[in-house]
Amino acid sequence: MTHQPLDTGADLRKLVERLYPLCRSITGDGVRATLEILGEHIPLDVHEVPTGTQVLDWTVPQEWNIRDAYVKDASGRRVIDFQESNLHVVGYSVPVSEKMSLEELRGHLHTLPDRPAWVPYRTSYYSPTWGFCLAQDTLDALPDGEYEVRIDSTLDDGHLTYAEHVVPGEVTDEVLVSCHICHPSLANDNLAGVAVAAALAQRLAVEKPHYTYRFLFMPGTIGAITWLARNPERAGKIKAGVVLACAGDPGSLTYKRSRRGDAEIDKVLEFVLTEKPHTLLDFSPYGYDERQFCSPGYNLGVGSLTRTPYAGYPQYHTSADDLDFVSTEAMEDTLATLREAFSVLDRNRSYVNQSPYGEPQLGKRGLYDSLGGRSDAKEAQMAMLWVLNLSDGEHSLLDVTKRSGLPFDSVVAAAHALQGAGLLKE
Ligand code: ZN
Repeated sequence: MTHQPLDTGADLRKLVERLYPLCRSITGDGVRATLEILGEHIPLDVHEVPTGTQVLDWTVPQEWNIRDAYVKDASGRRVIDFQESNLHVVGYSVPVSEKMSLEELRGHLHTLPDRPAWVPYRTSYYSPTWGFCLAQDTLDALPDGEYEVRIDSTLDDGHLTYAEHVVPGEVTDEVLVSCHICHPSLANDNLAGVAVAAALAQRLAVEKPHYTYRFLFMPGTIGAITWLARNPERAGKIKAGVVLACAGDPGSLTYKRSRRGDAEIDKVLEFVLTEKPHTLLDFSPYGYDERQFCSPGYNLGVGSLTRTPYAGYPQYHTSADDLDFVSTEAMEDTLATLREAFSVLDRNRSYVNQSPYGEPQLGKRGLYDSLGGRSDAKEAQMAMLWVLNLSDGEHSLLDVTKRSGLPFDSVVAAAHALQGAGLLKE
């Protein structure tokens, strides 16, 4: 099967547009439909985990599916309509079919009084209830009277669905990229992240990376917990990771460090972001699935990359997180930043100088001749001296880069030349 390329910003946008209308939740057919579309772009290993499966301290819940939902006024007009936007129904609402007064209904209605034209996004996964979300403006215009309330949903034993995609590397140590896929029609949180991750996977496959890159597309919290529960040995092989979300809003990039704070991925992102406007945040046990990967039992070197962070923009978890809120430029910028970060991570190594007593003689090993005539000969020489000096097993090439102020590419080239001459050992 050939996969559709995500080569341009327009391709990313088209993918977000296709995924946007689907009614996703932490389980159900919306997730499967999402993975089916994503599978047109990258091969996916889709896993179905039965309801009731014990996963760490949690249990896989019943599967939720919904076909229709509405509130009709006395004339039979749908005043709140799931067909118009899936945000109108509280995620995981139990089925209901009743007539009631507006007063009775009010207890089940959610609005944003401060943003009266926007519809909030609400869920109730773990306590059975039902509800509708609507604009405050719509609610204010509803007259008293009797309303017909119907939610045609099912909560049954079924499955939790998630998917993996692996880009094999030269080594089996893994780098994780994780996205949640449990939100219905919200574009930035997290369809932009899903599209960027898929495009990144395509690029990496062409580049033949050093590490093995594992992409996880799964429902927030319960998905990550399920994956961790099912992959105890694999979790130990995770060298680094990024939880990717909110990848397409107009804000500048934000990197939230891993719980460790000084993991290699933290240093790499910090380095790559230096060149552009950005924010660095320390870890906190809130936000996206970095909460799970950085729980103390795992304590993985996994940070989180977003543009404007979790809950940091007024459109967050509202109908205003729509297709207009996401730009191709922002998605392309997030993608480019991650590619650069992984290119650094992939080439970053620590070496030990095999001739640490005094400077080794570069001339007799032909290392000066190799510089002859190069316009960057001075820089290349400095890079060799810095790499030799700092290669005590404690400093990585990224550390050498930061300390020397030389370009990372020059430092890597110097290390390769020195290794070729037998002066460095990994
Ligand atoms: Zn969210």
